Amino acid sequence: MKDVPNILWLEEIRKEDIISVGGKGASLGEMASIGLPVPTAFVVTAQAFRRFLVETGLEKKLFAAYNNLDVENNEALEKAAETAKALVLKAKMPAKIRDEIKAAYRKMENGSMIVAVRSSATAEDLPDASFAGQQETYLNIRGEAALLEAVQKCWASLYGARAIYYRAKQGFDDHTVNIAVVVQQLVHSEKAGVMFTSHPITGEPLTIIEGSWGLGEAVVSGSVSPDKYVFDQRSEKVVDTLVSNKKVEIVADGDKGTKLADVPADRQNKQVLSNEEVAKLAMYGKIAENHYGIPQDVEWSIVAGTFYILQSRPITTIGAKKEAKGMAEGHAASAKILVQGQGAAPGVASGRVVIIRDVKDTGKVKEGDILVTRMTNPDMVPAMRKVAAIVTDEGGMTCHAAIVSRELGTPAVVGTRTATNVLKNDQLVTVDGEKGHIYEGAVSAPAPDAKVAAVHQAAIAHVPIITATSVKVNVSIPEAAARAAATGADGVGLLRIEHLILGLNKTPGWFIANNREEEFVRELHDGIKIVLDAFPGKPVWVRTLDAPTDEFRNMQGGENEPHEHNPMLGWRGIRRDLQSPDQFRLQVESFKQLWKEGYDNLGIMFPMVSHPDQFIAAKAMMAACGVDVDHVTLGIMIEIPSSAIMIEDFIKAGIRFASFGTNDLIQYTLAIDRNNENVADMYNPQHPAVLSLIHNAIQVCRAYNVECSICGQAGSDPKMATWLVEHGITSLSANIDAIAKIREAVARTEKRIILEAARTRDAE
Ligand code: PEP
Ligand code: MG
Repeated sequence: MKDVPNILWLEEIRKEDIISVGGKGASLGEMASIGLPVPTAFVVTAQAFRRFLVETGLEKKLFAAYNNLDVENNEALEKAAETAKALVLKAKMPAKIRDEIKAAYRKMENGSMIVAVRSSATAEDLPDASFAGQQETYLNIRGEAALLEAVQKCWASLYGARAIYYRAKQGFDDHTVNIAVVVQQLVHSEKAGVMFTSHPITGEPLTIIEGSWGLGEAVVSGSVSPDKYVFDQRSEKVVDTLVSNKKVEIVADGDKGTKLADVPADRQNKQVLSNEEVAKLAMYGKIAENHYGIPQDVEWSIVAGTFYILQSRPITTIGAKKEAKGMAEGHAASAKILVQGQGAAPGVASGRVVIIRDVKDTGKVKEGDILVTRMTNPDMVPAMRKVAAIVTDEGGMTCHAAIVSRELGTPAVVGTRTATNVLKNDQLVTVDGEKGHIYEGAVSAPAPDAKVAAVHQAAIAHVPIITATSVKVNVSIPEAAARAAATGADGVGLLRIEHLILGLNKTPGWFIANNREEEFVRELHDGIKIVLDAFPGKPVWVRTLDAPTDEFRNMQGGENEPHEHNPMLGWRGIRRDLQSPDQFRLQVESFKQLWKEGYDNLGIMFPMVSHPDQFIAAKAMMAACGVDVDHVTLGIMIEIPSSAIMIEDFIKAGIRFASFGTNDLIQYTLAIDRNNENVADMYNPQHPAVLSLIHNAIQVCRAYNVECSICGQAGSDPKMATWLVEHGITSLSANIDAIAKIREAVARTEKRIILEAARTRDAE
């Protein structure tokens, strides 16, 4: 091992070399060795790093900087990390290593190639231990000086506070931990994406490729709805092509990393890959699959007709989830749970706590913080966009924080009761949004896991599972529209427009009182249009305003909101609109404009109706505003037991569809405040009374051939979805993160129903 050179080119590396080149280096080498077109790269080996430590005399000094360190002591940890990093950065790199790095770089376009410089950590005793995400990557590096600096920065990143903490918790001996650095050609992809070399669920010989413009990150992160191609390896033909409207792309931003850019109109609907390109990618996929012996998910990219394979790893759709969980559990064993609540939005993230007691303080929130607050409200959304995770004292699965976090894809734990008291500002914690735990310290490597999870989520989401029952998606914030559409959902079963208004920080009444009606209509129109554009030709049911008075209180105009003892039972939904003709008219105005622009997939849903007369009155008010009410799709939410009981009368009054708002239906049937954590354990979607109301309403809708759906949180639970399909529901609308599992549950249930029916028939 002593003889390992300072530099190894990819062609010289095999997967056994992990001790010298780390996991990343070894996997790239292995891919290159089987003939996959991996971008040119060399690795500054772990031995080079060791020699650096020994020859500069750093080895001893460095560990003295943090021997006997109590990693739980944040301040001490930060200080030790800073000292160690500074030692590495200031030390002079031995001339031999410098010269060899420079010489290698000169072989890359004469030392002018733009490269990515990535850390690839490794440990002698446990070479394949996962250090992913602990060390740094530097993109867009050009020139010898910048390269040498980036290599040394990668070395220093081995002593970041999070990395030291992580290794201490894992029980690694820091003296044996090394770091290799991969220096690789940076590919400025013209088009890129992911590929599943076999069907990720059934294992059929179908290659599924997703692609979009720019860097592959756009596809992996779900910020764009990519094109999808299915290549049948048996017939060697492309058997399915779905060209999407690709509005954004991720491109290099000078020398500052990457940025999101609008795709010019002429490329938005243009097919990304030709059939020949699909076939060639499928061929590379097959090479990888045959070599590794199991189906792979592969990241690919194309520049000026040249193909690149950037990464290949096994498809472990189920396994990957377990791994992510397992990691959290592994650490959880040694980590202390500080507080717990309900896991409201999945994912794991670590960061520093910032406690927000007043909306005015949201300026304190920085990118990557953990936002801790009593309860989020709409004016906190800009801060919620920045943070790594959200923790609240109050609320349940259907509160504002839970809904918005799920759409932002940000892990969240709600209803902890005590987080704002127990957690301290600046404290390092880890939030597990699935389990509902907040751990002390950084206890997992969330960033790469989140990416893996996103890829696998995309894998399931785009598998063409055809279901007779439509599976739609819920949307509340227009910026989530692209992610929602990327799930391949059959439409939007609920667009909550109050979030569009609440984000403006002014009440509808304020717009009316200040003669700013046009602005209000425009905001509504533009927000809804973003969602309609993301779902061309698919139904989008927009719900008229439904914000309880307390949600308006902090906004301009909020001082005029009545104080109600129980806003949940108060002046909200259709009851308020019917008494506020101006507020209703402005909403209708925005719908009218959209219908005029040709969006005939727009349907309108009225919330909180308790009697058919309210539907009739709302329809009449729309007609008075000039809407041709007999030719637009109008429906209701079933949120109040009375509307479930009287569903036949609603149908006779002309509704075209009904959708169960179980969040409210449960609270009104069982008298359980949906946001009160003291009674959260009694909030039971499967309560026989709730199920009975739902069952009866479905049967009546079926008898009249009226579409019957669900858009409450219960529709995101596969068990409930199974029950609903068994009972004859026509569509379901779930949260973005739940679409894949709901689609699977629906498909499985339908198949079972068909098989059982066939068996019964055969037996007769
Ligand atoms: C519901 O009540 O189930 C629903 C979807 O509406 P909201 O959560 O906005 O009250
Ligand atoms: Mg509701």
